[in-house]
Amino acid sequence: MTDSWKPRSFVIAGGTVLTPDGPREVDVHVADGVITSLSSDTPPEGTRTVDARGTYVLPGAIDVHVHSRDPGFPQKEDFGTLTEAAAAGGVTTVIDMPNTVPAVDAAGVLESKAALARSKARVDFGMWALLRSGTTAEELESLADAGAVGFKAYLGYAFSLTRKQVLYSPGLDDPDLETPPDYGTLARLAPVIARLGLPLAIHAEDPGILSAFRRPLETYSDLLAARPPEAEAVAIAAAAEIAGASSVRMHVAHLSSAPGLAAAKEAIRAGAPLSLETCPQYLWLSEEDFPRAGTAMKMFPPIRSAADRDALVDGLAQGVIGLVATDHAPHTDEEKAASFDEAPAGSPGVQTLYVSCLELARRIGDVWLAARWVSEAPAALVGLQETKGTIAPGYDADLVIVDPGKRTLVRPEAMRSRQRHGALDGMDFGFSVREVYLRGAAIWRDGRRVGGATGRMVRPARLGSALP
Ligand SMILES: [Zn+2]
Repeated sequence: MTDSWKPRSFVIAGGTVLTPDGPREVDVHVADGVITSLSSDTPPEGTRTVDARGTYVLPGAIDVHVHSRDPGFPQKEDFGTLTEAAAAGGVTTVIDMPNTVPAVDAAGVLESKAALARSKARVDFGMWALLRSGTTAEELESLADAGAVGFKAYLGYAFSLTRKQVLYSPGLDDPDLETPPDYGTLARLAPVIARLGLPLAIHAEDPGILSAFRRPLETYSDLLAARPPEAEAVAIAAAAEIAGASSVRMHVAHLSSAPGLAAAKEAIRAGAPLSLETCPQYLWLSEEDFPRAGTAMKMFPPIRSAADRDALVDGLAQGVIGLVATDHAPHTDEEKAASFDEAPAGSPGVQTLYVSCLELARRIGDVWLAARWVSEAPAALVGLQETKGTIAPGYDADLVIVDPGKRTLVRPEAMRSRQRHGALDGMDFGFSVREVYLRGAAIWRDGRRVGGATGRMVRPARLGSALP
């Protein structure tokens, strides 16, 4: 097979396919980028066949939490390197966070960022838009019309009016900084977002608690003390009240703690329309990993105790936490090599999302759950449930062939992001991504990228306030 192999129709034959009825030994027929049937019928003479015997055929992952850094910080990452890492890991759609520069707070910014992404993207992409304390209902409407999948509020993060940039700043005395969005902003805009039929995602750490505990971060214990789990629990409880009152679909990004999970569970029991996301680093690691991982483990919210980690795994196993995304947030390896206090927060992760979730799902007892966490539930969150996240006739042929007999050792040399050292370095997962298809075209095969920048922007079906 050559790199330009793009047949109109082909069959992936002999694999175990995750269908809407569960795993089946069936062939996947693809034509013009779409799945046409699942059957074991002999295809027409001359149809190309991909031999998938001994493999799992899974829906492409949709990572709803990535930071492309593009435009703004292309030395850290850009849409080309981000989406090559995504393709390598079986992630066929990325949803980019709005804290690029200029931040995505207006339709015109979203449109120019989408044009930039289109010129480089190897996988499909969608865009979150930014909720500022000064955002108006009209701005939300025009962002929705421009194709935003939803809105992101960074509680306690200010916005620089001249630099058009989101900045972490609990103390505010600079006239260039707009007051950060708070619960009042959420309460004012949630009914508008509910009416638009889009989700509202929050970075859930209470700014008052962060301010009270702010300190120099000389050690990992300082980081844990500066961002305690009650900051997460308080923010979730408050946001859930607003979600309940407005019926907006409130999405909690990167849940990191047992108290945060307990607050969310309580709110969901009381009827709040809340969805929960956590990330592989919170499911696999604890503070005990710091001596090994170093500044690659510096992120907000922090990776906490083994008890927090185990509570999150339980929440995922019980289905309270519905989806896993990465908070892929690279910097340069040089920046991350600075002292703990000076190193920026965030690390890459998109490339290891699928294999790490397959390993975790196998340990929980049902390997196929991984596809629900990284594909089906994310598709529903961002309004793509009619085209992606499922292997069924009529859906995009975003397909991942996984070898369940081959291990993936996470090592910097194999990473395609600009930041090669991540928090999961040295981990070993019992699955490997063999081939990846985006709308029927191969984009990754046997450790190499295939094809070019064929990614397209996805737009959500706005279906009101049904929860994923
Ligand atoms: Zn993030």
